[in-house]
Amino acid sequence: MSALLNAPQREAIRYLDGPSLVLAGAGSGKTRVITHKIAYLIDECGLSPVNIAAITFTNKAAKEMQERVAHLMGGRAPRGLTVCTFHALGVRIIRQEAVHCGLKPQFSILDAADTVQIVADAAKDADKGIAKQMQWQISSWKNAMITPAEAAQLADNELAAAAAAAYVQYERTLRAYQAVDFDDLISLPVQLFENNEEVRERWQHRLRYLLIDEYQDTNRAQYRLLRLLSGERGQFTAVGDDDQAIYAWRGADVENLKLLQQDYPKLRVIKLEQNYRSSRRILEAANTLIANNEKLFEKRLWSEHGDGEQIAVHCCRDADAEAEWVAMKINAHRFAARTLYKDYAILYRGNHQARIVEQALRNAGIPYVMSGGQSFFDKAEIRDLISYLRLLQNEDDDLAFIRAITTPRRGIGPATLEALGRYAGERHVSLFAAVFEEGLAEHLAGRQLEAVQAFATFINNLKYRVPREPAGRLLEDLLAATRYEAWLFEHLDSREAESKWSNVRDFVGWLTRKGDEDGKNLIELAQTIALISMLDKDDPDFDGVQLATLHASKGLEFPHVFLVGVEEGLLPHQASIDEDKVEEERRLMYVGITRAQRTLTISWCERRKAGKEFRPCEISRFIAEMGGDVKMSNRRSNDPLPKEEGKNRAAALLAMLERRG
Ligand code: ATP
Ligand code: MG
Repeated sequence: MSALLNAPQREAIRYLDGPSLVLAGAGSGKTRVITHKIAYLIDECGLSPVNIAAITFTNKAAKEMQERVAHLMGGRAPRGLTVCTFHALGVRIIRQEAVHCGLKPQFSILDAADTVQIVADAAKDADKGIAKQMQWQISSWKNAMITPAEAAQLADNELAAAAAAAYVQYERTLRAYQAVDFDDLISLPVQLFENNEEVRERWQHRLRYLLIDEYQDTNRAQYRLLRLLSGERGQFTAVGDDDQAIYAWRGADVENLKLLQQDYPKLRVIKLEQNYRSSRRILEAANTLIANNEKLFEKRLWSEHGDGEQIAVHCCRDADAEAEWVAMKINAHRFAARTLYKDYAILYRGNHQARIVEQALRNAGIPYVMSGGQSFFDKAEIRDLISYLRLLQNEDDDLAFIRAITTPRRGIGPATLEALGRYAGERHVSLFAAVFEEGLAEHLAGRQLEAVQAFATFINNLKYRVPREPAGRLLEDLLAATRYEAWLFEHLDSREAESKWSNVRDFVGWLTRKGDEDGKNLIELAQTIALISMLDKDDPDFDGVQLATLHASKGLEFPHVFLVGVEEGLLPHQASIDEDKVEEERRLMYVGITRAQRTLTISWCERRKAGKEFRPCEISRFIAEMGGDVKMSNRRSNDPLPKEEGKNRAAALLAMLERRG
């Protein structure tokens, strides 16, 4: 066993006489217990990897765990070892036991958009908004293992009653489609194991040891699955931290921690108290903050690391200024400390905050990766527009050509594109180049040929105007000529179309400003964007700043963390304030703080855009709750940076920091 384990960690790893729970605060090495226990089970207990399953909370965490285990075991992941999320395990079980679930092995898994549609159909209700709420309700019932019949009895308002009625039909439709939804991935295996002893025993025999990370965020159905799989013997190790329970809104239930003790009287509870992640100041702030919540379990956490730097809390004018400030800080710090971009993380409460951060990073030429949640620049409507820019920049970019020529549809169908592709392939030229070759006429009917030529001519005309006209005007003309807005409203429901169109407006506004400020033309702008988009973000060695919502940051750690938008109404979130659920938000803040290893920089804005207007903001209560050991600064401290020095901002900031000591 590796030397880098403390006594309680070793105890947790060696304990095999029954169920065990490692209950400990952030950064205390819970996940490390799991990876080392896997190695211990295989190497020292002779258990086959096939008999072990480790359950993580996200796919990303699963991937990371697999890598850590591989690293521990000499570079290669043990064959047959299961490391996945509860949902992925559910898929595997249903696939193998499809007959017993009344499904074909090729059943399909529906996503949220599909299921909302089915609920809308089932409820004969055209309104997508209501259907969404009903789908949410049905999903909560399914997570709590509540049947349609039970739901009908539980429903205590009109909406719930309608949802309960739709629930019956919804389930029927799903089965008729040979489809399952996300919640079924857990509840079907549970039902199967409850009703079929033979199948249950087979799986219990196969997965003889289970390890569960982030146990505090399991829901009732997942807990039932764990119980059924581990059987009477309860051969499992769960690790978790009640202070990091942040998924109650998705049906997770911290009560599961208590249930474990009730259901398994012999449960061995092991506590870890040393934090190996953060500097003392960061840990202290996190502990002080979370002490404001009512305690479920008594825990302590200390660190042998030094005091570290003071936590900085900075006030900004608004979200744009904040994002720009963070980008500048990162560049300056990276320069001074000789770090890598991937040593930094920017964390935020809501996905909608990402766009402004992303734009500021791109403005500053900082590469980044986003974990969980969709990047603004990956949204379909933005990629549509980018495809035109890519084509302007490089007409031989075939993928961009296909995307642009088909969005919006110009009456150019797959058959035309196929013929064009075949011809281009034979001639070894790009699609764009093929359009104007004489030989193409033999392969395309007159009208089709005209249509593709009209498109290519349109691109050529735009390209001709690029050096002469500002980027903003060209973009406006591009949108007008393609009738992009009208197209969105023609093929989407109005709410979706509006949201997409507003993203497009944002994107165009940003490019226009950027073009004006930097004096760049449209093609030069396209190059800046492409540079960042093309980098391979799946590559673990990719050096980029990490962007994530607080929810998605769970379990991760970064040397330097920026926590943005720490204001009343955002963190804690307004809905939670209204519903008196601030404790969950406090845990979210705790998760955020404890991601930081060396420095933590918190920022908040004096005003924030709500719709078209700005509303004034107050600093989050959580700052005061972290105790007094923080360094406050306000926006005036970065006001002295003169505009002329724009290009040299990082250097100016450094100089300023030095002057102030
Ligand atoms: P979280 O609650 O945030 O998920 P965790 O309890 O799972 O945290 P880990 O991620 O396992 O904590 O560990 C935090 C950091 O401390 C990791 O970098 C890990 O490698 C390191 N660590 C854990 N235990 C030890 C140890 N005994 N000696 C040295 N480093 C350790
Ligand atoms: Mg962990």
